[in-house]
Amino acid sequence: MSIHKTSSIVLSTTPYRESSLIVTLFSVDYGRFQGIAKGIRSASKYSTPLERGMLIEHIVYVKKTREIQTLADIQVSDFFPEIRGNIEKTSVRDTAFELLISSLKPGDRNPELFSFVLDFLSFLSTPEITQNTLLFLLWSFHFRFASIMGFETNFSTCTHCSKTLVSTQSGGYLNHDQGGIVCNSCGKSHLGDDLFIPSELLSCQSFTDIPETFSSLLPSHQWLRLIRLASSYCRIHFDLKYPFRSLDFLEQVFK
Ligand SMILES: [Zn+2]
Repeated sequence: MSIHKTSSIVLSTTPYRESSLIVTLFSVDYGRFQGIAKGIRSASKYSTPLERGMLIEHIVYVKKTREIQTLADIQVSDFFPEIRGNIEKTSVRDTAFELLISSLKPGDRNPELFSFVLDFLSFLSTPEITQNTLLFLLWSFHFRFASIMGFETNFSTCTHCSKTLVSTQSGGYLNHDQGGIVCNSCGKSHLGDDLFIPSELLSCQSFTDIPETFSSLLPSHQWLRLIRLASSYCRIHFDLKYPFRSLDFLEQVFK
């Protein structure tokens, strides 16, 4: 057994027995893993209960043969109050977390992904954030996540004719198999509207670089379709069988 101090993001929590919690963590040093926080629900020193979405520092007693590791000395570094108190933001966060929980294999250490998820939470915490920006954030989370995990999507040229997509200004269709986009003229006749991506989304890939004009981009039903599309793209690449339950909740919140 070894003892380490590390930082983790709490992806989910489940009460265990009378006073303990089993938590799924995404840690900078250990990737996704499960831990048990014994007695945490009755200890008076924790004024804020341990919850999904928190960034914590803690000690972990690692025993390779065990599925659930023991946690101790848990300190909350950030509980992202702006997200916690806002149902739209929590539904966006939970959809992103469901993608992490279902795609990451236990023990997949990935510091780049860890720092990306922290950026995502910080951006989501921005006080004045429009509904469009929130949904764009979730859209781009899927593709950036896939890219960090080794499935980069080509948003710049058509997978069929190689034309630059930004220059055509007419959007394109997501090509799941080839990890890219088919331009409007190549795809219009045979690809369904459900695969269509507006040109604004093809030219803006990073949520740290959203243009000002973005706030009036799309009605929410279009966004919800696009997020389901991004989600199915990840499900295909990460070989995940079932649609995410968090998407139904997201739809209820944003419809
Ligand atoms: Zn083309």
